Amino acid sequence: MTLSTPTVSPARVFDPLAHKDDLTAFRAEVRAWLEAVVPADWQTRMTGADEADYVAFQRWWFAEMQKVGLATPHWPRDWGGADIGIRHQTIIFEEVARAGAPGPELFVISLYHLPATLFGHGSQAQRDRYLTGVKERGEVWCQGFSEPNAGSDLASLRTRAERRGDVYVVNGQKVWSSYGAFADYCLLLARTDFEAPKKQAGITYFILDMKAPGVTVRPIRQATGQSEFCEIFLDNVEIPVADRIGEENAGWMIAQSTLSAERGLIVFELSERMARAFDADLAEAKRTDAAWLKDDQLRREFTAAYSDMVTLRLMIRAMMQEVEADPHMGSATLPTYIKIHFSNILRRYTDFRVRIGGLAAQAQQPAVMGGGHQTGNAMHDFILSYAWSISGGTVEILKTVIAERVLGLPR
Ligand SMILES: Cc1cc2nc3c(=O)[nH]c(=O)nc-3n(C[C@H](O)[C@H](O)[C@H](O)COP(=O)(O)OP(=O)(O)OC[C@H]3O[C@@H](n4cnc5c(N)ncnc54)[C@H](O)[C@@H]3O)c2cc1C
Repeated sequence: MTLSTPTVSPARVFDPLAHKDDLTAFRAEVRAWLEAVVPADWQTRMTGADEADYVAFQRWWFAEMQKVGLATPHWPRDWGGADIGIRHQTIIFEEVARAGAPGPELFVISLYHLPATLFGHGSQAQRDRYLTGVKERGEVWCQGFSEPNAGSDLASLRTRAERRGDVYVVNGQKVWSSYGAFADYCLLLARTDFEAPKKQAGITYFILDMKAPGVTVRPIRQATGQSEFCEIFLDNVEIPVADRIGEENAGWMIAQSTLSAERGLIVFELSERMARAFDADLAEAKRTDAAWLKDDQLRREFTAAYSDMVTLRLMIRAMMQEVEADPHMGSATLPTYIKIHFSNILRRYTDFRVRIGGLAAQAQQPAVMGGGHQTGNAMHDFILSYAWSISGGTVEILKTVIAERVLGLPR
């Protein structure tokens, strides 16, 4: 693939505050930019693309968004963002979904998890170095939390970090790190105190340079045929003390900031894309007078999933308003309901598409790299839907959280 698509980026950066009271103008500006920049054939070009092309395309898209301030609009102004609020962010997500634009998925940790962690707990030197690296050099980050025996029970992690002078020497293994094979840096949790009375109390948070000696990355081939994840092996890796985030043994509390980033804007964007996909499917079915339109059971399924999708969007908007009203407190329980609801609808919807697609939809064709769950390849999207009921806390664990912490049911 070549990235020769001419782009017509506006000369000036989007400034949401310039449209503080004129959301219609802001929407029009975002829409015009997307129409000018998103290559009409990007999904065709990314179908079955190899890793090198995929990464090049993702980098190109990130750079285009960054040129006009749409990569980091949610970052603070002092850091090249726009302190964007809920109303403007809603418009961006709606318009990105409407345009069927690629998602900057390679940069999710860089854009959301990293700032959520560093703004709350990083040093000034760490913010200067690493947030600037994302903004100006498009550095890719991954997250090294899970281990073979520490996923749902993350606090049981065994990767060991021992302080020796100005460095920590780290040994252990991480698993399921998304985009770890392309990452420059990793948000890493390791155990510094094996004797702590509570296992959560002995964990420290580090920045790991993925090019440091002793780091080995091994991609994991998934059921979809892709290798989004990888294992990371750490063999006497030296991490400078300056790359420790927060105090020694305070990593568990800091990790909650990282994980909270998953609960907001990311699901928001995905739900907008899902809504567009529903509408596109319905329009196509009507256009072709699809057989499922006359099947009572399938009509019921589609209508039920559609209604749930509308409810999901309302829940997300309610959550965003709570977070906007008080970014520090925000909603404690809504994100949990939203995650469960989103996983559930995505599974039902992608399963529905496999069934209405007949035999052709049963075959696993090459998918659109970067197309998320709406690649148009029904079987691929269905298999991938399972990822959402596992990542960032499995549905079973989240239901337990509701049972115990919200309903107060006995353990
Ligand atoms: C798409 C995706 C992306 C990911 N990206 C990353 C990443 O970038 N970085 C990273 O560190 N990790 C990542 N992960 C890993 C993810 O956080 C873990 O898979 C998740 O926490 C579950 O842990 P596990 O896989 O070890 O499963 P386990 O914890 O072993 O769970 C296995 C099954 O047992 C159930 N179970 C476990 N404990 C209980 C319990 N107490 N009560 C009831 N049921 C229980 C679970 O619900 C699940 O069904 C990713 C995972 C996915 C799917």
